[in-house]
Order: sequence, then C-alpha cells, then structure tokens
Amino acid sequence: MAEYLQPESLEEAAGMIAAHGSSLAIVAGGTSAMRFVVPYAEHVMGVRGLDMTAIERSSGGLSLGSGVTMSQIRESLPIPALQEAARGIGGPALQNMATVGGNIFAHQPYGDVAVVLLALDATVTFSSVNGEQTQKLAEFYEAGGEPDGLLTRIDCAAPGGELVYLKCGRRRFNSPTVVSVAACVGFDNGHVGNACIALGGASKHPMRCAAAEQALVGKALDDASIGAAADAAAAACSPGTDSVATEWYRRRMVATYLGRALKQIAG
Ligand SMILES: Cc1cc2nc3c(=O)[nH]c(=O)nc-3n(C[C@H](O)[C@H](O)[C@H](O)COP(=O)(O)OP(=O)(O)OC[C@H]3O[C@@H](n4cnc5c(N)ncnc54)[C@H](O)[C@@H]3O)c2cc1C
Repeated sequence: MAEYLQPESLEEAAGMIAAHGSSLAIVAGGTSAMRFVVPYAEHVMGVRGLDMTAIERSSGGLSLGSGVTMSQIRESLPIPALQEAARGIGGPALQNMATVGGNIFAHQPYGDVAVVLLALDATVTFSSVNGEQTQKLAEFYEAGGEPDGLLTRIDCAAPGGELVYLKCGRRRFNSPTVVSVAACVGFDNGHVGNACIALGGASKHPMRCAAAEQALVGKALDDASIGAAADAAAAACSPGTDSVATEWYRRRMVATYLGRALKQIAG
C-alpha cells in the first residue's frame, strides 16, 4: 500500500518530491490522478492542504494558484473563454474538486482549461529544491510536459485580441472531449496582427499551432485565411485514437472547430 504524505509548506513538498522522485504521485483534486497515477505510486502526496487557491487580478491579467478549482474559474474569472472551458469539465461535483494545475497534466484528450491558457500565452511556475522556475506553458509542453517539482502558479496577461474557445464533445455538457480549440486573434489595420491558436485532444499534450498562426498573421480574416489555418492545424496535429474518437475523426474536427472559432471572431 502507498504511503500518504501531507506537506505543510512548499519547501516540505519540494523536499518530498526530491526524496521520492518518480515513485511519488502528486494529487490535487484527484479526479484524474486516482485513475492514472495513484495505483502505480509508492508515495502519494496530497497538496490541497497547501492552499494554492488564490486568484489575483492585475490590469486585465491573472495569476492563478495551481489549486484553483474549475468551480472558482467558472464563477469568478472575468475571461469568458476560461469560464466556458471550466464549465465543460464533468459536472458540478467534479468541478468542485478538479484544479487548474491538475488540468495542465491531465491525460489527453483532457486539458480543456490548459488549451485556453495556451492561447493566452500563459506561464507556469514550479517550486523545487532548486527554488522557483517559471517558463512559458507552450515551451513546457514542447519540452515533454513533465513537471519539474510542484506547479504552484499560472500567470497570463489579458487576451491580446478576441478569444474564442470551442469544445467538440458528444453532448454539450458532461461529455468527454473529442477535441478542443482556443483562438486569440488581434487586428492591425483590418488585418490579423497577432494570433495564438491552441489545440486539445490533438497531440500527446495540448499544443500551440504555429502553422495555423502563420496562415493568419498579415492576412484579412476571411474564408481563404480561415480555410488555410484550419488545413494547417489538421496537418500539424497528431491526435490519438481512443474509445471516444479515432485519430481520423479528431483531425477532421480540429479543422472544423478551428474554422468555426475563427469565423466567430471574424463576425
Ligand atoms: C468523469 C470525468 C470527466 C472529465 N471531463 C473532463 C473534461 O471534459 N475536460 C478536461 O479537461 N478534463 C476532464 N476530466 C479530467 C480531470 O477531471 C481534469 O482534467 C482536472 O482538471 C484534473 O484536475 P485534478 O485537480 O483532479 O488533478 P489530479 O487528478 O489531482 O492530478 C492530475 C495530474 O496532475 C498532476 N498534478 C496535479 N497537481 C499538480 C501540481 N500542483 N504540480 C505537479 N503536478 C500536479 C498529478 O500528479 C496528476 O498526474 C474528467 C475527469 C472525469 C473523472
């Protein structure tokens, strides 16, 4: 049977992670870890007692403690796309437990809130025995998405344009994700000045899609550029097949949902 550990400070948690390495499972809300990591762990570290549930706002930007729950996001954040993503995660009971930190490491096709955070170009901060380390969420995923220590905080600026999040599921609520997309587009003289496109269920981790962004920047947001971005996203992603959907279907839904999100922004 696994040993249950309950650190009382970030320093103590960092020490436990360093001491037990890969035999230790971190558990926040436990809605994913209880199935995927706890059964294989020798040590289980619960982090709810560390009270990482603060939400700080500054000039449109946000700083979220990694223990902020989906219910907190749904009820008290000023960014509708983040609220929409949180509202789509399971039902109300699950949303009371599930945290934003856990969502960043959730097994694909999950990670819906992480997809919106990617489109907001968020940073993640880890605490370890070597101190604090902050990096872009996109770079963290590109490097393999393995946490180095305890995720304590997620920071993002105000959206740099219009932000739309769409989830493809079999039902509107309480339904597993087939794919999810978040698009943030800013305009400059009638053309796309900046674009941040993020995809979920489309790869091993949530991903930023540079090819789709390049298909948009400098162009008018019209049928031609939207079609090019949707095709680029479908070509760039590498989804898997599971009991929810096939790789073939996911790739098609990436193109369809990104096209829909961009058309919504184009108005
Ligand atoms: C019925 C059901 C439906 C679901 N539907 C959705 C859905 O629609 N969309 C979706 O995105 N997800 C969904 N999920 C998955 C999951 O509930 C969410 O992704 C949730 O946000 C995970 O958060 P948690 O706090 O429960 O994470 P946990 O289960 O506690 O942990 C998840 C992973 O993150 C790691 N971890 C957690 N916190 C930290 C930290 N601070 N530092 C380092 N590592 C950490 C854990 O070790 C584990 O590997 C669903 C789950 C269930 C059971």
